Amino acid sequence: MKALVKAKAEPGIWMEDRPVPEIGPDDVLIRVRRTGICGTDVHIWKWDEWAARTVPVPLVTGHEFAGEIVELGRNVTGLAVGQRCSGEGHLIGRTSRQSRSGRFHLDPDTRGIGVNEAGAFAEYLRLPAFNVVPLPDAIDDEIGAILDPLGNAVHTALSFDLVGEDVLVTGAGPIGIMAAAVARHVGARHVVITDINPDRLALAARVADVVPVNVGDEDLRAVVARLRMTQGFDVGLEMSGSQAALDQMVENLVMGGRIALLGIPPGKSPVDWSRIVFKAITIKGVYGREIFETWYKMIAMLENGLDIRPVITHRLPAARFAEAFEIMAGGRSGKIVLDWT
Ligand code: ZN
Repeated sequence: MKALVKAKAEPGIWMEDRPVPEIGPDDVLIRVRRTGICGTDVHIWKWDEWAARTVPVPLVTGHEFAGEIVELGRNVTGLAVGQRCSGEGHLIGRTSRQSRSGRFHLDPDTRGIGVNEAGAFAEYLRLPAFNVVPLPDAIDDEIGAILDPLGNAVHTALSFDLVGEDVLVTGAGPIGIMAAAVARHVGARHVVITDINPDRLALAARVADVVPVNVGDEDLRAVVARLRMTQGFDVGLEMSGSQAALDQMVENLVMGGRIALLGIPPGKSPVDWSRIVFKAITIKGVYGREIFETWYKMIAMLENGLDIRPVITHRLPAARFAEAFEIMAGGRSGKIVLDWT
């Protein structure tokens, strides 16, 4: 089969012929139809310090996918050949306290497909049947291929009650934009999304009914006044990893405000904790998505009118992967979906 392989410990990614994976008794084999390129994949492509420390070489990369089950392990029940599916790319252990109490997304023994184990940028993917998420007809393959990052957005956005609240999303990358769309969908009042990249802010405005703010040009305090918020934002969703963005968020949050952090700062960064203490702010770190509660919630919202399709800005055949990675690294695109059919 064709697969996108991190074949060498240097920048780049290579299309190679690899054997179709053999499945175990509890696995399924999936014929991959569409995949999404993630920021994580760009780190692996660039071979930065994190990737070099984390990713074994050679490895089939990729973790965002949709496809169709073509083979079932002998112990697998409840799934069928021909079933369209996506799936959770975090392969969890079963022995930790968190796993045994059903908090699968907090299992410390988690391994990721396309990061630690063979991934989905291939014509075929082996996946434990446990990880399979069947797709309803209403969700096509390209949306199925971005449920993984949508899950990050949903998990972050649903960290706190947003009904009637004023929400600030910092960082208008694809996940920030999707989180803003979710906040709008579930009934937030004002949803403001900030960035310093005008292309991304324009994309945010195309995807959802949100207020885009370029914090390079406009002060957030002026936006708070313009929207007649008396104190500031109730909830912050930090998606950028930028120290300045977190500072602005804390500055513009109400007393007792809440922050969910998904953006990853580069290394240690100074935080004015006294402001957080005196404002009585709650901060929650967010990793991955809840297995499988987030999947149920996002599929239900997609069936119920949440439309994130415009966040997909490029669709390319898998053979044009090099172009796709260049576009991703340029920072002007939304989601890029590769076609493996
Ligand atoms: Zn991803």
